[in-house]
Amino acid sequence: MGKVYEKLMQDVRFFEGLKACINCGTCTAICPAAEFYIYDPRVITTTVQSQDDEKILELMSSDTIWYCGECMSCKTRCPRGNVPGLIIIALRSLSQDMGLFIKSEKGRQQLAVKRAIGDQILSTGYCVHPGSVDPAMHPEQGPVWEWELENIDPLMEKLGANYNGDGPGALRKISQNDLDELQRIFDVTGGQERYDKIESFSKEKAAEMGLEFGTDTTSEYFQHVYTTNNHKHNHE
Ligand code: SF4
Ligand code: SF4
Repeated sequence: MGKVYEKLMQDVRFFEGLKACINCGTCTAICPAAEFYIYDPRVITTTVQSQDDEKILELMSSDTIWYCGECMSCKTRCPRGNVPGLIIIALRSLSQDMGLFIKSEKGRQQLAVKRAIGDQILSTGYCVHPGSVDPAMHPEQGPVWEWELENIDPLMEKLGANYNGDGPGALRKISQNDLDELQRIFDVTGGQERYDKIESFSKEKAAEMGLEFGTDTTSEYFQHVYTTNNHKHNHE
């Protein structure tokens, strides 16, 4: 048994997710990501089952593990009780811990996810808070978000939200006490440590590429990982 495989086995999601794959391909047939991306959960499961560290390291350094949408459809169909979705989550975590994510285009986008969504969770209590959305980062939305932000108060009132208000209701202000508690959860569960690793490994990659790193979503490196697309991810 390889050392990397042993590390994966310490992750309960991996331990619970990998029983004995018979290579039947049912997970791939049901997987929505496999329809869209050049991606095959069956191959991932059989690769990790080989216990071959070299192949597992290659997998964790590739785009492949970042295509999964974590929908868990594979969990419901596998005839042998494997859960490729959980195996992939464990591979992603280890890839982040070992700094292998910076070796692939989709992996490098972990910095964008961390800064655009992860940081918002800790600062607002929401994954996506309308007040923190930068419309320039979402050209695919056309003028919609810009209009929404300009009209946010009457819009939220019409929707019945308690936008940034005290007390209960959708999009209410999350108290500092609750945000502090959230931070403590991240501290004790290793979430903050993982955030820090994503930042530090990304910083190394930015230096290697000669791009300014910065701390927000406007820096050269952030914009690079956020906008680069080699168009090799999808089926023709
Ligand atoms: S993980 Fe399950 S569904 Fe997928 S190939 Fe293996 S046995 Fe079949
Ligand atoms: S959890 Fe991932 S691998 Fe499983 S069906 Fe969903 S997208 Fe596919």
